[in-house]
Amino acid sequence: MKKYQLFIGGEWVDKKETFDVINPATEEIIAQVPNAAQEEMRLAVEAAVRVQTEWADTVASERANILLEAAKLMRARTEELARIMTLEEGKPLDEARGEIGYAISFLEWFAEEAKRVYGDTIPSNSKDKRIFVLKRPVGVTAAITPWNFPAAMITRKIGPALAAGCTMIVKPSELTPLSALKIASIFEEAGLPKGVLSVVSGTDPAELTQVLMEDTRVRKISFTGSTNVGKLLMRQAADTMKRVSFELGGHAPFIVFPDADLDEAVSHAALAKMRGMGETCVAANRFYVHQDILQEFTEKLTERLHAMKVGNGLEEGITVGPLIEPSAVQKVEEHVQDAISKGAKLLLGGEREGFETGFYYPPTILEGVTEEMKISYEETFGPVVAILSFETEDEVVHKANDTRYGLAAYFFTRDVGRIFRLAERLEFGIIGANDGMPSTAQAPFGGVKESGLGREGSKYGIEEYLDIKYLSLGGI
Ligand code: NAD
Repeated sequence: MKKYQLFIGGEWVDKKETFDVINPATEEIIAQVPNAAQEEMRLAVEAAVRVQTEWADTVASERANILLEAAKLMRARTEELARIMTLEEGKPLDEARGEIGYAISFLEWFAEEAKRVYGDTIPSNSKDKRIFVLKRPVGVTAAITPWNFPAAMITRKIGPALAAGCTMIVKPSELTPLSALKIASIFEEAGLPKGVLSVVSGTDPAELTQVLMEDTRVRKISFTGSTNVGKLLMRQAADTMKRVSFELGGHAPFIVFPDADLDEAVSHAALAKMRGMGETCVAANRFYVHQDILQEFTEKLTERLHAMKVGNGLEEGITVGPLIEPSAVQKVEEHVQDAISKGAKLLLGGEREGFETGFYYPPTILEGVTEEMKISYEETFGPVVAILSFETEDEVVHKANDTRYGLAAYFFTRDVGRIFRLAERLEFGIIGANDGMPSTAQAPFGGVKESGLGREGSKYGIEEYLDIKYLSLGGI
């Protein structure tokens, strides 16, 4: 078991009170982390405020070089970082390596974007005036992140914040603080000035974030997590009129039309469902399969998921790790039981037997799912495929949109006209047409409706950390 320290204002900080980090595969304590309270959070804010002006005044290439150096160090330590991630979060080692690569891509992308923060000149209405649009960093920012992507959800925020010239305080999930602290040590080694980045973790997130939300000097928060907590933070942000971005829950439809390449659709369905054991915000949750191909698609997907191997993600050949905690398993069990009690048929999985230790739940397939079952309208966050059928395009678009969420939607078809129609009509921020893995650093990730506000990644991501102002210059 390892003891970790918090990273506050460029110093590594101990505390007598600690909390345990649990390996969800073995239920063992793998580390102890100082349990931060409001006092530590205040120190992090003070440190950020102290250095904000100086950091904002650095030239873009200097900030870019630090991001690139951090990316290089992360790449060199991929193995170590991936192992820590698997230990604290559970995802299989290969997936954890993939996430480290994805996390690095945001640092590299925003290192480039730092150099492309362009303004405008606007023709004025008077001969003796000129108008210039300037972009300036918003100031001190804070990131509040979930456990399901312990590295990527952090670099997706640190990357644009630092690139824009903002300081940032990160409050990672108390379930996975280790990856965040490792990333902080990498930035320290990359030469990031003290105070620009702090990582503060503790078991009372509401108490910790209160400091951030009430402080007028914290000008922006970027939150990734559940819709309920997002709503709470949005209300709290009103008092100081902070800028906000929210990446919240999802309930992605996965639609398969009869003209789809069925084998491709099955492969992508397995990816879109099973990545991170189904614990991703973009996880396919509702599978709408055209009735002409329902049987064939279901058989092929069942075969595919049946071949997946459940176990400790550190072991060779494991493709499905444990869920994050017992309450996650309970939620999945509840959704499956609810569906069965309302008439769904269990084709695969559905039983936890054989797993005495670890928060495991096997790949599960339910057929004959209907709209009144919980699994059709609530985020399951687990390895369960819920299969519904449809007859017409209009019907399925209506069903897919009938949700408060609007993050990702997937569909498989070879009809180009239909691809455009659905891309326009589906009310989601991310559309995967014949693509079950659309996330990438150069595309604007984010949702509509109750899935959030703002975009991360892409050329739009850095705008979330920049204020627009203009200079009206007279007397020319
Ligand atoms: P969560 O909302 O419980 O926690 C997210 C973060 O908020 C954690 O750091 C947590 O400590 C903190 N938090 C919890 N309660 C708080 C409170 N009362 N006040 C302030 N902070 C609080 O979410 P989670 O269980 O960690 O993550 C799963 C959720 O995140 C899912 O709904 C998933 O869809 C969503 N998610 C969304 C995206 C996206 O990009 N849209 C990405 C990953 C996860």
